[in-house]
Amino acid sequence: MNSNQPRLMFKACPRCLDGDVYRDRDAYGEYLDCIQCGWMLDLPRNDRVEEWRRTAAADGLELTADSAS
Ligand SMILES: [Zn+2]
Repeated sequence: MNSNQPRLMFKACPRCLDGDVYRDRDAYGEYLDCIQCGWMLDLPRNDRVEEWRRTAAADGLELTADSAS
């Protein structure tokens, strides 16, 4: 299950700007979580990637959703 690997993005938090954000998944899907301040963002299911990208861009977040494949 390669898609289940958590990813850590250093200083990637759009809220506290200095927080390390990790990517993980639970029963509802993937999400991002800032270790420092607790900011969270649910990652989209495959049919909602475009909508999510717009939302993430509005939050100042630049990520590639490579979980679609
Ligand atoms: Zn943060």
